[in-house]
Amino acid sequence: MRMMQLCQCGAPLQFNEQPTPKPAGTEVLLKVLAAGVCHSDLHIADGWFDLGQGKRMSLQDRGMKLPLILGHENVGEVVAAGPEAQGVKVGARMLAHPWIGCGTCAVCRRGEENLCRAMKSLGVFSNGGYADHLVVPHPRYLIDIGDLAAERAAPLACSGVTTYGALKKVPTLKEEPTVIIGAGGLGLMCLALHKAMGGNSAIVVDIDPVKREAARNAGAAMVVDGGRPDAAQQIVDATRGGAWAVIDLVGSSASARLGIDGLIKGGKYVIVGLYGGDIALSLPPIPMRAITIQGSYVGSLPEMRELIELVRRTGLPGVPVATRPLKDANDVLGELRAGKVVGRVVLQPV
Ligand SMILES: [Zn+2]
Ligand SMILES: [Zn+2]
Repeated sequence: MRMMQLCQCGAPLQFNEQPTPKPAGTEVLLKVLAAGVCHSDLHIADGWFDLGQGKRMSLQDRGMKLPLILGHENVGEVVAAGPEAQGVKVGARMLAHPWIGCGTCAVCRRGEENLCRAMKSLGVFSNGGYADHLVVPHPRYLIDIGDLAAERAAPLACSGVTTYGALKKVPTLKEEPTVIIGAGGLGLMCLALHKAMGGNSAIVVDIDPVKREAARNAGAAMVVDGGRPDAAQQIVDATRGGAWAVIDLVGSSASARLGIDGLIKGGKYVIVGLYGGDIALSLPPIPMRAITIQGSYVGSLPEMRELIELVRRTGLPGVPVATRPLKDANDVLGELRAGKVVGRVVLQPV
């Protein structure tokens, strides 16, 4: 099989060829049809996240082993299955749920594998889909995409389920406007799913006018320039006193400050983005304003199944998707790092 491998953090991915693995036990072998390039892949390739104040969280310290095939947004066609893989049809087109836990701890058993303390996530802690083949450890992680286009369904595995998981944490979704910070690929996905889930209206914040325009065209009721000093006040004015919910898809010091300042009493700030940084918070206003600060990390397997069902019912989110050959992975990562990607780029083996 051919692959783009991370052999050293901070260095370009390397093109390599190895014998295609034979699935054992419950494993299923997919021929990769599409692998989305996610912003987190930049952090994974760098090998660290920024914790603020010069501190870093190393992925290798947290169990990432090299060489690694990146890619956690994968759709593939089943080509083979191990002797214990039940109910798998060769030829079926499947989305691979990448947020795989140990499968045995209490958290995993109640269906929240994305919160397991021993994650084996595809493309992070085990090999992902920047390749022409992908091994998935158990058929339960495969979800039939029906007749959805592979390259447009692939981003549902991270971008989709991450925003779906965040939107599900908003109790006022249908009654009140929701503020979405960040109008990149994740923001446009969030906006589309917000609508599909019957959301009231969305106020989208971005510092980039091109991305604000994309959000407006995608149905945002209002857009706010997050770079303006009165951005929080604009949110407070537009929501008549503050937002009941802010979903922060950026996760920087500035976006967190803005999101928390833009809340009404009793409001909820959900942080999803992993841009990095830190903030200092005065404590008395947290109880006095009765605000909630909640983290949201990708999504669970049941949420992924719900999401695919929702999309098969309401149609694919209209997020722009461009396809590129697998061997262009390094170029695509560079373009993403430079902020040149609107929507999603999906790699396809050729
Ligand atoms: Zn991702
Ligand atoms: Zn577990």
